Amino acid sequence: MVDRLRPVWAEIDVDAARRNAEILKGMVGSSALCAVVKADGYGHGAVPMARAALAGGAEWLAVALVEEGALLREVGIDVPILLLSEPPVDAMEEAVARRLVPTVYTHAGVQALKRVVAAEDVSPVDVHLKVDTGMHRVGADPAEAVSLATAIAADPRLRLGALWTHLAVADGSGPADIEFTRTQLDRFGLVLDDLTTAALRPPLIHVANSAGSIAFPAARLDMVRCGIALYGLCPTPELATQLSQATGGGRVEPVMSLRAEVSFVRWLDKGERPSYGRRRPLAERSIVATVPIGYADGMPRRLFDTGVEVLIGGVRRPLAGVVTMDHILVDCGQAGVPPVTVGDEVVLIGRQGREEITATEWADRLGTINYEVICGIGPRVPRVLVNGDGLTGDSADHEIGAA
Ligand SMILES: *Cc1c(COP(=O)(O)O)cnc(C)c1O
Repeated sequence: MVDRLRPVWAEIDVDAARRNAEILKGMVGSSALCAVVKADGYGHGAVPMARAALAGGAEWLAVALVEEGALLREVGIDVPILLLSEPPVDAMEEAVARRLVPTVYTHAGVQALKRVVAAEDVSPVDVHLKVDTGMHRVGADPAEAVSLATAIAADPRLRLGALWTHLAVADGSGPADIEFTRTQLDRFGLVLDDLTTAALRPPLIHVANSAGSIAFPAARLDMVRCGIALYGLCPTPELATQLSQATGGGRVEPVMSLRAEVSFVRWLDKGERPSYGRRRPLAERSIVATVPIGYADGMPRRLFDTGVEVLIGGVRRPLAGVVTMDHILVDCGQAGVPPVTVGDEVVLIGRQGREEITATEWADRLGTINYEVICGIGPRVPRVLVNGDGLTGDSADHEIGAA
């Protein structure tokens, strides 16, 4: 076993990520799969997730930050790595030095890139031009696309490698959302026509995130950029059904589970009110178990009010009081059903016996999305890689990210 001192860990099933990539790649067929591993692989560990995705058929990786791309290069990952936003002007040099593929959408960005390639005398640097077709986060106005593409094409040290956009409501199943996605695809098609007319059509076009890849086959184009599905979560239950239909029964499986051990137990009388605020009286004389994980680890304090449960001994058990910074208190009820003792495994997210608590369940309780739950598991929780033989570069299960 690894030398963790606190019995709290996030188990990362590396082979599940590989299988998820395989399912997605199988679904999109001839489109390339770009595995999105930004934000430390949505909290799972960017390096093992990148390796798992590549083993499962991904050909590209994508990250948000130059720093995130540099980290992947440092461990020797050599595939194309797309930066999902235009790097700040001062970060262009590092982006090029690391052979990352910058996204651009401003003339200032193109000029910064030109200065860098002029100074470095590098071979043509691939650039992906992003247009805003309705998400309105980042991206060029469609009317600017030809002028930006022309500026890129004018420099022999740059190469317009792709045109792309991002969908705002690909996960929506209502008619208005579906119509908006179609509008975005239409706007994108018009920009592509403009570039084609100007003899600037790039070799690659890409649009779809996980939801778009699953729900809009027409959006798969040359490449899909999948994040959440790679980690085994679907943005909505409808998308899980659609994924299954699109893959002949395929299902992605959660890659992360959040685990701990009971650190302390005591009997408390009916009516005692554990934790800060003394919020709820025990309904009966009960065993209350302390588990050394708290909101500082990404278990939101608000989960108590939502009635969240944890698994101990394969049974769902409610919290006995509010989540604190470093501990939760679990109401284990009367002894003997079954008894709970120090060292028992606690599953906060994941499976135990026949029960399962998913990141999506937390998200539903919290009024957020499963993305935010998994990204929120903090750096204080060590990631323990399992089933990663041959994928992580180590023969044994091991641990990363312990803080
Ligand atoms: C994060 C991100 C993705 C991946 O989205 P998922 O919904 O996790 O598949 C794709 N494209 C862009 C531009 C992103 O920012």
